[in-house]
Amino acid sequence: MAMTIAAVAHDQKKAALADWVHRHQEQLRPHHLIATATTGSVIRKMVPGLDIRTVKSGPLGGDQQIGAMIADGLIDLLVFFPDPLTPMPHDVDVKALLRLALVYDVPCAFNPHSADLIVASRMLAPRPA
Ligand code: PGA
Repeated sequence: MAMTIAAVAHDQKKAALADWVHRHQEQLRPHHLIATATTGSVIRKMVPGLDIRTVKSGPLGGDQQIGAMIADGLIDLLVFFPDPLTPMPHDVDVKALLRLALVYDVPCAFNPHSADLIVASRMLAPRPA
């Protein structure tokens, strides 16, 4: 059954997230990808054939839109690469997104190594509908 995977990365981490999607594009293809606006456009450039839906940019409410989807039970995996070295104007939204992922026990990866482990876990592998 297809899962819905949310992808969000801060500016310094967008290339790493796009690279993760590129490396695992075949495993990701059967699933629904949803990304914040700029993250989604960077991923689209790197992996043109992939179907990816976007919400608003993070600082303009995109993190909250993804958080609302988590609260509605619509997100199966959150791949979020935050930049721990740069202050963010929307820090409160970032915290709220993380908080909701914890509240609803959503599997999360916050860096490429953890995201690779999620793929290695075969969580994304095809399952009977
Ligand atoms: P962006 O948003 O993908 O639009 O840059 C991500 C964020 O900064 O939270």
